[in-house]
Amino acid sequence: MPVSALPTPGPSFPDAAPQLSTLADAPLRRALDASDNAIVMTDSARRVVYVNQGFTRLFGFEAEEMLGKFLSQVLLGPHSDPSLLASIRENVMEHGQFHIETLLYSKTGQPRWVSMVINASDEASGGPGGSVTVLTDITLTKMHEVLQTRVLEGMVSELPLRELMALVCREVERIAPEVTASILAVDAQGRLHPLAAPGLPPALCEALDGLPIGPRAGCGTAAFRNAPIVATDIATDPLWDDYRPLFAPTGLRACWSNPIRNHQGQPIGTFAFYFREHREPEALHLRLLDVCLHLCALAIERDSTHQRIHQLAFFDVLTGLPNRAMFRSSAERALAGLQRGGHPGALLFVNLDRFKQVNDTQGHAAGDALLCEVATRLTQCLRARDLIGRLSGDEFVLLLSECATEQAVQMAHRMLEAIAQPLHINEQVHLPHASVGIAMFPDDGDGIDTLLLHADQAMHQAKSDHRHSLQLFSAEMNRRAQERASLERALQQALAERSLTLHYQPQVLSSAPGTLHGVEALARWHHPTWGMVPPSQFIPVAEEAGLIHALTLWLLDEACRQLAAWRTAGHDVPCVAINLSGRSFHRPEFAQEIGDALTRHGLRASDVLLEITESVMMDARPVTLANIDTLHQQGFKLSLDDFGTGYSSLSYLHRLPISELKLDMAFVQDLTTSPTARALTVSVLSIAHSLGMVVVAEGVETAGQQQWLQAHGCPVLQGYLFGKPLPPDGIEAWLCAQAVGRKR
Ligand code: C2E
Ligand code: CA
Ligand code: CA
Repeated sequence: MPVSALPTPGPSFPDAAPQLSTLADAPLRRALDASDNAIVMTDSARRVVYVNQGFTRLFGFEAEEMLGKFLSQVLLGPHSDPSLLASIRENVMEHGQFHIETLLYSKTGQPRWVSMVINASDEASGGPGGSVTVLTDITLTKMHEVLQTRVLEGMVSELPLRELMALVCREVERIAPEVTASILAVDAQGRLHPLAAPGLPPALCEALDGLPIGPRAGCGTAAFRNAPIVATDIATDPLWDDYRPLFAPTGLRACWSNPIRNHQGQPIGTFAFYFREHREPEALHLRLLDVCLHLCALAIERDSTHQRIHQLAFFDVLTGLPNRAMFRSSAERALAGLQRGGHPGALLFVNLDRFKQVNDTQGHAAGDALLCEVATRLTQCLRARDLIGRLSGDEFVLLLSECATEQAVQMAHRMLEAIAQPLHINEQVHLPHASVGIAMFPDDGDGIDTLLLHADQAMHQAKSDHRHSLQLFSAEMNRRAQERASLERALQQALAERSLTLHYQPQVLSSAPGTLHGVEALARWHHPTWGMVPPSQFIPVAEEAGLIHALTLWLLDEACRQLAAWRTAGHDVPCVAINLSGRSFHRPEFAQEIGDALTRHGLRASDVLLEITESVMMDARPVTLANIDTLHQQGFKLSLDDFGTGYSSLSYLHRLPISELKLDMAFVQDLTTSPTARALTVSVLSIAHSLGMVVVAEGVETAGQQQWLQAHGCPVLQGYLFGKPLPPDGIEAWLCAQAVGRKR
């Protein structure tokens, strides 16, 4: 309501009775009355002496009510500018004129934004000190501006959608107090969700939440029809049939509801104006709606884009499970809750066994199907308070809240069982298996990162112990993991400082054990404080830490240098065997790098034997095959190491250019005790013979093994019986000793 007690311009003139301006000229009066603008004349005491009908239309006051009053007495209201009067007075006195856009109020208290132009005018008001004021209604423009600015500012400052929509409703209700506004969202399933309806009872909003849109869904019908609806009496309107009991106590009588559409024109919500009387919307309402619909559409669409980005940023696209970032932050919160309540929890790290094989042999679509199914099976094992996430590839993590060790182990067993149920993909039956590592909160770690690390370590332990099993984290595991990390750092340093060395083990002719077939180069690492670190320890670390290729390049160079040096010194070393890692074959330039090493030391391809493992032989990657092909074309010989321990797929043997098989020492050492080992060795020897391959028996330690191998035609022998891996001068001494032996 206008505040009539506002301070008015100082009464510098006598408080005489207001003088009615005599606008005798009737046509002029009619012209003024026809104007859309409100026109006011005041006398020298600033009292109103004339208002036209435009004023009455705009503010609702009849001329008789205005005469003799101060404008400020009737038009100022709760949100009017408090310094307005001072500015007017100052400017009119100084410049004889003033223009401002300001907020005034009508007789019924409705806000009216006006453009106000005041001119000092003695003429019109019939005496000195008077003025003429012209007021133009700019409410709609202003309303547009204010609403838009507020809502857009809200968006910029990331105000939640519901708050933004509440702001729109309140703004609408402020401008049109007869309206009760309500904004509902419609989800992809066509269900209604109240976003804001500050003037409706909360119970009503709750009752509406989740209701489907349809041909009789009250204000939601506008979304169903994708067209506005007007119900002048919701007490009888059939659209409200199902909602009547909900609305009866509200006193709302009429409704005008409009669909909020996205940029493709599809309904994503409804914007309804409710009225307390039976009526239809009027011009102001239409204009208001016009402004609001765009803002609502913008805000709702923007919110769903946000949600989509959130989904993409925090959820795994394949399985829909939370990703690492999301899991970490929810787990952090859950752990804080457990801490407060003094409850234990368990972090389970689940990793599928041989997942890579499914991916490689059956294709990624099959791998994806397997992962999705495992995600579903794991999720089904969870209780409401547990969390699950997919970290990467075939790694899943679960946080079980309020769960002690025993219960965690039980749950893990149940999960392993659930995962292991047969699964059909591409008409093939799979029996997926997994390994699980468990770290307990708070005993094994009180933060999510430590728990993840420890559960991961336990999972690796489970994998190496016995696949398809579970393992609880132990401090011992942590110690080993830390040792590994420091081993990795030290190895990196040793490689950089070139402090590794090579030892060479003689490979002798079975027919003349004093004669070298060649030597095998074996890496040695003497650490300043740890002493000798065996290759069985540091080679796997180098593989996993990505250091193996640097190591291979170094040993290639060093072995070639040594062979060239022996030859220069007149020692007869026929060739050197070099152990290669499968990983190096994934580098397109690998074959070239090997060739370069030989060239640097003036050697030929026939001077080295390249030992590869069966995993290289099975690797179908084009880059691996290309490297093997290049090496073959350049005349290099490949030797298959540890034969008999891996896949031993004989079909590969003749497909690849393999010229040598190294019979694993496990066979050799069982020769004298196991008929099976003997039978297998006999067949390996005969296959190799028929394929024209040389067989090197590894790990020959006893004369009995030597005799058996000699008797069965194994051409080359290697083992402690003939010589341990020796430093270069040891090989020189070995050669001399053999020469002396022969002379004797
Ligand atoms: P490997 O290639 O099978 O090498 C043979 C291993 O058997 C060597 O162990 C050697 O010392 C050992 N050995 C030789 N004769 C006998 C014997 O009569 N009895 C017994 N019990 N053992 C014997 P080492 O040097 O400890 O190497 C272990 C493994 O580490 C190697 O197995 C190889 O896989 C890897 N390795 C060693 N050096 C290198 C290298 O320079 N590069 C790569 N990639 N791997 C290497
Ligand atoms: Ca070897
Ligand atoms: Ca071997």
